[in-house]
Amino acid sequence: MWQQLVLIALLGLVATINCATAERVRYDNYHVFELQPQTTAQLVAIQALEGSGDSLLFLNAVHYLDAKINVLVAPHRVADFLSVLQHNQIPHRLVDENAQKSLDFEELVADPNRRGGEYTWAEYHELEDTYAWLRALAEKYPDQVSVFVAGKSYEGREILGVKIAYGSGSGSSDDGATKRRGIFIEGGMHAREWISPATTTYIINQLLTSTNADVRRTAESFEWYVVPHSNPDGYVYTHTNNRLWRKTRTPYGNCFGADPNRNWDFHWNEVGSSNNPCSDTYAGPKAFSEIETRTLAEYISKLKGKLFLYLSFHSYSQLLLFPYGHTGELPPNYKDLKRVFDVTVAAVSKRYGTRYTGGNVYDAIYPAAGASLDWAYGTMEVPYSYCFELRPSGSSLWTGFRLPADQIVPTGEEIMDSMLAMIKESGALANL
Ligand SMILES: [Zn+2]
Repeated sequence: MWQQLVLIALLGLVATINCATAERVRYDNYHVFELQPQTTAQLVAIQALEGSGDSLLFLNAVHYLDAKINVLVAPHRVADFLSVLQHNQIPHRLVDENAQKSLDFEELVADPNRRGGEYTWAEYHELEDTYAWLRALAEKYPDQVSVFVAGKSYEGREILGVKIAYGSGSGSSDDGATKRRGIFIEGGMHAREWISPATTTYIINQLLTSTNADVRRTAESFEWYVVPHSNPDGYVYTHTNNRLWRKTRTPYGNCFGADPNRNWDFHWNEVGSSNNPCSDTYAGPKAFSEIETRTLAEYISKLKGKLFLYLSFHSYSQLLLFPYGHTGELPPNYKDLKRVFDVTVAAVSKRYGTRYTGGNVYDAIYPAAGASLDWAYGTMEVPYSYCFELRPSGSSLWTGFRLPADQIVPTGEEIMDSMLAMIKESGALANL
């Protein structure tokens, strides 16, 4: 009898899971428009539309003039939307008449057999595949690699990271047991930016397996903390329900999620974020309202004084950014940050000619408070704190978040080149 009950309970559970995962968001006949506001009035008119409901999905920030903004518009909303554009004379063009078709094509080319195979950088992986790979690394390299839990997610997932430390027993030693300086690498904050976690795992693999002398010296000179998935719920949701999801999955009224890169407790919500829970840049009800950012920050706090470099990986636009986002005032060691910036963007282009621009967040892109790079710099006093906005370039059309998988390796290669140059220029290797 109890076996039958267990079976019934299990069937119920399976049904619940199916129910939860079956509701994949579809964008059939959604039109994709590219807008390019030329006046402040036009910008304000577009901002008024953002966060106004499910029928409009903004893929880019609406902050500054002349920037291209891609918007998905539900079929029933197209006529209204066009009349707002025409009324305000907002320059625009239709990029795609059926967003779902383009999303379907991407799924078609993904390898259906990937779960059984070797972990490679020829494809994007699901969360559990990457977590299994991280755990396997700790078994394969017990003296160099240890897995740590950097935090928790709203839905109860772990935020897993790996620590890489060469030297006697350093893989399993407590933080601070050695005097080597630390580098913290964080990826996957924004769920749909799949190239970000893929790049962080590429870096992990290079640190462990590369035979290049420069890579070896850099890998073995520091303690590395790498967290590929800072927003695991969001990432899983991009696989199960909505490829274009950005935020966490905490429920807020009728909408879900806060923007985890507007939620850090450093000049939180002062500028460039939204108080509307339906907006993609919702700052959350308070700083560190999201368990993901709060617990990750608690973990990083234990490393205070040890870290000299903090790297946050996002996409897209090919930008390298440094503090601050909340003000145009330049940070105290601006000269050092800028010198290292110049060397880094030169190095990123060496292999494939990939062009990066950037600077301090506030001037280089737009005011945006509450990002992790500012918190690491301002609160944790990490002297070199940067954010990479990876491939493709900002002029890419609405496929920007869906970088083809055959670009994972070239992206990883040029980022390794630039990261090595960055570390060298910071002087950290000379000070060993
Ligand atoms: Zn991002």
